[in-house]
Amino acid sequence: MPKRNDDLREKAYDLIKRKGEVFSKKFENSDLVTLLHELDVYQAELEAQNEELRKKENELILANEKNQKLFDEAPFSYLYLDNSLAVREANFLAQDFFKFSKSKREIINFSSYIKDGGMKFFLDWIVSGNYRNNYLELDLMNFHKRSNRFRLYLKDYAEEKKGYLLALQDVQKEKDLSEDLNRKNLLLNEINQNQENLILVYDNKYNLIFVNDRFLEFYATKDISDFKIKYSSIDCTFIKNEGFFNVDTKTNLHWTEMMTNSEQKDNLVLLNEKKTDNVKAFIVSISKSKTDNIICTLSEVTNISLEKRKLEKRVFYDELTQIYNRAKFNDFLNTEFSFFKRQSLDLSIVMFDIDFFKDINDNYGHDIGDEVLKYLSEIVSTRLRESDIFARWGGEEFIILLKACTKEDACTFAQNLRSNIQEAVFVNDIKITCSFGVTAMLLDDSIKTFLKRVDELLYKSKNNGRNCVSC
Ligand code: GH3
Ligand code: MG
Ligand code: MG
Repeated sequence: MPKRNDDLREKAYDLIKRKGEVFSKKFENSDLVTLLHELDVYQAELEAQNEELRKKENELILANEKNQKLFDEAPFSYLYLDNSLAVREANFLAQDFFKFSKSKREIINFSSYIKDGGMKFFLDWIVSGNYRNNYLELDLMNFHKRSNRFRLYLKDYAEEKKGYLLALQDVQKEKDLSEDLNRKNLLLNEINQNQENLILVYDNKYNLIFVNDRFLEFYATKDISDFKIKYSSIDCTFIKNEGFFNVDTKTNLHWTEMMTNSEQKDNLVLLNEKKTDNVKAFIVSISKSKTDNIICTLSEVTNISLEKRKLEKRVFYDELTQIYNRAKFNDFLNTEFSFFKRQSLDLSIVMFDIDFFKDINDNYGHDIGDEVLKYLSEIVSTRLRESDIFARWGGEEFIILLKACTKEDACTFAQNLRSNIQEAVFVNDIKITCSFGVTAMLLDDSIKTFLKRVDELLYKSKNNGRNCVSC
């Protein structure tokens, strides 16, 4: 017991020394046991308070760690700046871009990251206090001279001493994308402006969604809806003409489908330009875009198609008489021959030759001979049906293909023609006659045997005294 008392006393003195005044009064007025009891109680209270404090401290440490983690690993770059804008701390992303490290112990001013020309904006933003309401976009640069466009968000940060918390959002990709988009838009605009072609785009439901300026100009319309009001649809403006595409009103297909399905690759259209009131020929190309739109490009080929027509004239027609030549006649004959083989429709042929034509040349000259040939072609042409094909076979020899015509009907036709020619009066009051051969296609005929037979019949007429028809 005395031992314990001594120990306790010592402990009490020790405590009093440490805890000071508050206890010294209690010590004076109390007996030792009471005092020791109170001290024990007090110590227990202190212990409890300490425990509470430790818990709070741990919580704070955890919270701090959490905040630090959030700060460090944030998907934005964060910088703590002091009020002279020196960088005090940077999170991982910012450290990475700006190559900032606290351990380098150098003090870097944020302004050294700002690319030329941006400084003024940055200072204005801060001095004016605008940073409290608006972000600022600036090009920031690291020490490798790599520069990115950032969006800067600045907040006052008051702890210990005044400074700022700066959040940086890297918008370089956005900037690149929007610049790229702008460039493409400009390019598209330029292409659109300089485009001689008419361009129209349909969506996958065949709604007209785009036309270029040249298209609007061609139709003298303001915009797509104006065009739709005036013309309803472009295919309503296609001019019907041989050799050009036109819609088949029997089907419900869209004209672009009709054109792509068309076996003949019939992609020429004739359109009337409103402004000049000129009919122009266009070649149409139709393609599907990746976005499922249908792009139609109409390129003008008026000159080419006129040239084509002229060429066709030269290739298919006889220059002197302007009726078909022998080559074109053979084309028709081939086509009709295959029809005949499939369907056995009547097909007849009339061949005729001017009698003693050499004498006309000899008596009146070659030019007058030519006039006779021309006029004869005209006379014969007026006697033909639309389906008959009339050609110059060579020299003063002509041939007519009569579709859906029996041999008898062909003979009657030839007889009439023979007398028409006989009655006609030509230049210089010249009168002529012709000798005829007439035959119809037989089931076992070839083109060669068919033509040979009619030729022989013509010579039969010649041998029979001319100006007659042999069937
Ligand atoms: P036939 O009754 O036997 O047919 O006698 P023909 O004189 O008509 O026959 P021939 O074959 O002897 O003479 C045909 C003439 O037609 C010879 C040629 O100079 C002439 N001829 C052929 N082509 C042309 C042409 O384009 N213009 C002119 N003016 N004459 C032509
Ligand atoms: Mg002759
Ligand atoms: Mg002849």
